[in-house]
Amino acid sequence: MLHPDTFKENLLDWFKINQREMPWRETTNPYYIWISEVMLQQTQVKTVIDYYHRFTERFPTVEELSKANQDEVLKYWEGLGYYSRARNFHTAIQEVAESYQGKVPDSPELFEKLKGVGPYTKAAVMSIAFDLPLPTVDGNVFRVWSRLNNDFSDTAKQSTRKAFEAELLPYVESEAGQFNQAMMELGALICTPKSPLCLFCPVQSHCEAFQQGTVEELPVKTKKVKKKTIQQDCFIIRNSKGEYLIEQRQEKLLNGMWEFPMYEHKESQQKVNKLLDDNVEIPDKPIYQLKHQFTHLTWNIKVYEIKETISFEQLTSNPQFCWLNLSDRNQFNFPASMHKILDHLEKQNSED
Ligand code: SF4
Repeated sequence: MLHPDTFKENLLDWFKINQREMPWRETTNPYYIWISEVMLQQTQVKTVIDYYHRFTERFPTVEELSKANQDEVLKYWEGLGYYSRARNFHTAIQEVAESYQGKVPDSPELFEKLKGVGPYTKAAVMSIAFDLPLPTVDGNVFRVWSRLNNDFSDTAKQSTRKAFEAELLPYVESEAGQFNQAMMELGALICTPKSPLCLFCPVQSHCEAFQQGTVEELPVKTKKVKKKTIQQDCFIIRNSKGEYLIEQRQEKLLNGMWEFPMYEHKESQQKVNKLLDDNVEIPDKPIYQLKHQFTHLTWNIKVYEIKETISFEQLTSNPQFCWLNLSDRNQFNFPASMHKILDHLEKQNSED
């Protein structure tokens, strides 16, 4: 049975001693806390730490980031994935610079109007930076709270999020930032998805699922629809100097990042003909194949090498295209799938 006062006390006592060291826990600067929260979405703490240091060194203030161009911001994000987070955050910071004199607003109503700020980010930044009484409900909290209350509600539903937020509200009337971080830390370290460490749990005496023996059945989450798979053909095309043709993505997904020309399989021959203004045949066999997973879809990529050396001046005048010398790859923002192809080409070239 959950006893509100002692539950919070037990949780916070444990958190004070056992929380992991993280650089963003050593600051109350809302801009830094916001950066960490955006980076931590879908990404593990140990991966984020280096990115956080590099990002805050290069963009130490709202003003510095607001003045930076998007390509450079994406470069500092490269490898973290989910690039729309970085683009939205950059836009939001420009709004903060323009409309709030560079100060992150301490009003949840104003903060949530900024680009990319959803309910979780709002609650996390407002509670951790300003101690405002908003509960965070992320995957960890869904799991911990379902188990503590032996609650079999479907955590994929918006109504469950709303119910959990309402139930957690009394606990964030004071020390909101500490309480929210403690709940998430408990979920990350003790009340883990598989094999939770109930015997070492500081709030075990409050846990209904532990008492009922239902821990392994919780939380309930209905399955998402199956991921879509797209067959992609990617083309390695060189000029007479041995440079590679790359193209900047215009699509919403990975917008602004660079790639070797890549098209959906069903239309790739037609697109290649249009691109090269020639009847170039796509080879039968790819030189390399890879799979890349996004949250909502999978790319099966086949990489083909166009053997002909092609001269097409018209492409170089189109800013969407560019020639790449492999030794300059770090000057461009490439998504993870393209890095794998670049690694393959470098390896291939070193063996030739
Ligand atoms: Fe989670 Fe087990 Fe603790 Fe309950 S007792 S909160 S299930 S770790």
